[in-house]
Amino acid sequence: MTAIKRIGILGSTGSIGTQALDIIRKNPDRYRANVLSCARNLSLLEEQIREFEPELVVTKEEKDAMGLSRRYPKTDFAFGEEGLKEAAALGSNDLVLNSLVGMQGLVPTCAAIDAGTDVALANKETLVAGGDLVMSTAAEKGVKILPVDSEHSAVFQSLQGNDMNPYRKIILTASGGPFRGWTRKQLEQVRVADALKHPNWSMGNKITIDSATLMNKGLEVIEAHHLFDAPPEKIDVVVHPQSIIHSMVEYEDRAVMAQLGLPDMRVPIAYAFAYPERVPMEEESLDLAKLGQLTFEEPDREVFRTLDLAYGALKTGGGACCTLNAANEVLVGLFLQEKIGFTDIQDRLVDWMMNFSPVKADTLEDILALDRETRARVLETVKV
Ligand code: MG
Repeated sequence: MTAIKRIGILGSTGSIGTQALDIIRKNPDRYRANVLSCARNLSLLEEQIREFEPELVVTKEEKDAMGLSRRYPKTDFAFGEEGLKEAAALGSNDLVLNSLVGMQGLVPTCAAIDAGTDVALANKETLVAGGDLVMSTAAEKGVKILPVDSEHSAVFQSLQGNDMNPYRKIILTASGGPFRGWTRKQLEQVRVADALKHPNWSMGNKITIDSATLMNKGLEVIEAHHLFDAPPEKIDVVVHPQSIIHSMVEYEDRAVMAQLGLPDMRVPIAYAFAYPERVPMEEESLDLAKLGQLTFEEPDREVFRTLDLAYGALKTGGGACCTLNAANEVLVGLFLQEKIGFTDIQDRLVDWMMNFSPVKADTLEDILALDRETRARVLETVKV
């Protein structure tokens, strides 16, 4: 029996965080939740503290950390950005699961890497905004970046055992989101509640809106580029509405390796936790005969323009992906507050990227500065 793996969970009350804790709950002889962190859902956080008795807990606000520390004297508490950094760098973590939402995930990822701790990465903005920096420092430190995004986990799994065989292409699958097949006119009528209904996956709000605009797939193209050192022309996207094939790798001999399964994020989370082992799960098995058919189609790049924006940003390089990500985060936030329409997200992104003059953003400071500047300027352009 190997030692218990101590996992620091950043974002423990979100969709990925709660599923990760479910895996830990069912495998107490393998894992321990070493760190918990949460911004808003304090009642759930408190339940988690009682159940998992972590070493350190991070809240967003200082007053919440103070309040909890009085009730749980055996646990250490920290708060805010500094708290997340401290939690990510905590020496007793064997692995950090970064399931924070958005750009706030970048600094803790870098902190975990600097501490020499492997990272299970569910925060895609980390790689989109700072992929070059993150992957190069991870390589220097000998730190593993284990993908938790289902597509990248599928690619990662399909690459196993093929170190000697270069791949020809990475094929990311996309569900197409709730508005697959819709016209531009129909998209203009979309309300927040419609966009929050994803056909296959149950996820947080930001990623659900990104899936509806297809920006999620664009961000995943950029993520794949960094994780697997893939030039943009070696990354394809195919729409696969059933979300059963989670992604594929084509080799030089035209053999295609795929990873299949029911849409359940616990599988990629568990794989990242146990890699290179596989841990038994009690979930339902995939029944192909019951499913009947798997279908595929081209993404509609005319109606959904975000995918090409991501490819464009990747080719432009420098800070283009960082600024695209920041602008998107702001616009999705404005849409969720019903301050702009659904198609405004992509229209304003297209405008923003057309007027963006490439700037370098290699260091963490440069990336964070470009992110801040983009947010401020995009907010300014939307008179709300
Ligand atoms: Mg995904």
